[in-house]
Amino acid sequence: MIQGSMQHWPLLVGTILDHAERQHGTQEVVSRSVEGPIHRTTYAEIARRARQCAAALARLGVRPGDRVATLAWNTHRHVEAWYGAAHIGAIYHTVNPRLFESQIAFIVNDAQDRVILADLSFVPLLERLQDSCLRGRTIILLTSAGHMPDSPLDLLCYEDLIAAEADDLPRLMLPEDAPCGLCYTSGTTGDPKGVLYSHRSNVLQALITHGPDVMALSAMSVVLPIVPMFHANAWSLAFSAPMVGAKLVLPGNRLDAESICDLMRKEGVTMAFGVPSVWIDAIPRLRAEGRGTLERLLVGGAAVPRAMVEDFAAIGITMAQGWGMTEMSPLGTTTAPKPAMAGLSPREQIDQRLKAGAPFYGVETRIVGADGEVLPCDDVHTGALQVRGPCVVAEYWRGAGGVVLDAEGWFDTGDIAAIDRFGYVRIADRAKDVIKSGGEWISSIDLECAAASHPAIREAAAIAIAHPRWGERPLLVAVRAAGASLSEAELIAWLGGRVAKWWLPDRVIFVADLPHTATGKLDKRALRQQYGADCPPTAEDNRQHC
Ligand code: ADP
Repeated sequence: MIQGSMQHWPLLVGTILDHAERQHGTQEVVSRSVEGPIHRTTYAEIARRARQCAAALARLGVRPGDRVATLAWNTHRHVEAWYGAAHIGAIYHTVNPRLFESQIAFIVNDAQDRVILADLSFVPLLERLQDSCLRGRTIILLTSAGHMPDSPLDLLCYEDLIAAEADDLPRLMLPEDAPCGLCYTSGTTGDPKGVLYSHRSNVLQALITHGPDVMALSAMSVVLPIVPMFHANAWSLAFSAPMVGAKLVLPGNRLDAESICDLMRKEGVTMAFGVPSVWIDAIPRLRAEGRGTLERLLVGGAAVPRAMVEDFAAIGITMAQGWGMTEMSPLGTTTAPKPAMAGLSPREQIDQRLKAGAPFYGVETRIVGADGEVLPCDDVHTGALQVRGPCVVAEYWRGAGGVVLDAEGWFDTGDIAAIDRFGYVRIADRAKDVIKSGGEWISSIDLECAAASHPAIREAAAIAIAHPRWGERPLLVAVRAAGASLSEAELIAWLGGRVAKWWLPDRVIFVADLPHTATGKLDKRALRQQYGADCPPTAEDNRQHC
């Protein structure tokens, strides 16, 4: 077989920072440091320091394939650590500090991290983890000598370590399939499982997602990744932003609406990326103060309620929705417009943006029924959503969970979805959250989004409660908006105009706050534990299934 006669140029993430250093060397990278002040640097400086970091790691004995954990917020040092590890063929491993401590210990032990680079704010956490998972590991604090704390731990200082190194260490040449990054799923069922990204999958994901129909990034963009680097590979932004030379604004550990809006205004942010829950508090501010320079948002990781789409449209911000998962590097679909949708009414256009969108190049989607039959794309049939492509996981770290692909390479996402004639995916539910009432399925997501679109509701979660006749019935746990008063009966009556009668929750419980998982999603498991057993349905037994 003859070969193509083009150069062999492995897709390594280090080539991204090389390019940013050469072509966008003076472009700014701004961080809200964990120590407090705003820190300004450039891609050229980050590239230089990433090589120093690589040399320091190598001096500490880190070898190709070793895991280098990061327990850190989004800052320039965290970016340097990713590229520094990759420079010497080591694997950056993002540890989500919001997980339970027992899960963090499990993850660090399972990954067998050699080194842990941690932010100052996590020293108390590290001290608590010392016995369960830190023995024999080198801990580097991502700070300067003046900030090093008194601690019983043996801690090294990042700035001192890298200052001692030259900045010209050549990059280790690797095959593009070499491992690059390790990220664990949040483990809402069972233990967390690791997804091991390759250099190739990371570069491909950045190449594919920076384009106009996904993130629309360019050197003129000012990009704010609110999604933490420890969640789902930070939607690839640590790769796609330097790939195009976009200005990067990193929010550190201050992710409240006031800090985020302040940073967006001061730094001229044009695009922000985050899960829906971060926007709940930011929307009233944006409404009051105007959008400023902010042009575009990509929101994903959980369903987006209609009120949020309408709010952003009213403020003049283009909001696209994305769907994906840790196992997909992580993005798979976005609500990019298609010419075939031009004839839709304004309301139908909004309906499309309430969906997860269509897969872009490199992602194939299909839905299958209970017997494995492929279902039609008619927006009516719902089934298990399956995906495949070069940025989709082939197996979990160390084989956890066994075989995850079928014979044709399809990966079951655990989501239940419909696909419409435009290829747009509508996520009905996570398979484990769907409410099975009288043999039919009620989408907890649709119920939550309908409730959250009531102006007096800030957030809502729908869970299944056992029912003697219907098997399961929905219970809605809701948080009222500040200062709002709304009764259970009023909310149920309002929902009556928006969802099928048999979908109406049997009970609404108002609470001050809803629990969220470590990745910002509603924690249905905690809600089921709290309310599932001791909250039997009321006299709504007569509600009919139609
Ligand atoms: P976790 O570790 O919490 O599973 P992921 O980010 O990998 O974190 O979660 C992926 C899941 O998040 C998807 O399988 C899906 O259920 C949900 N999800 C992501 N984006 C959306 C979206 N736009 N709409 C609805 N659900 C979404």
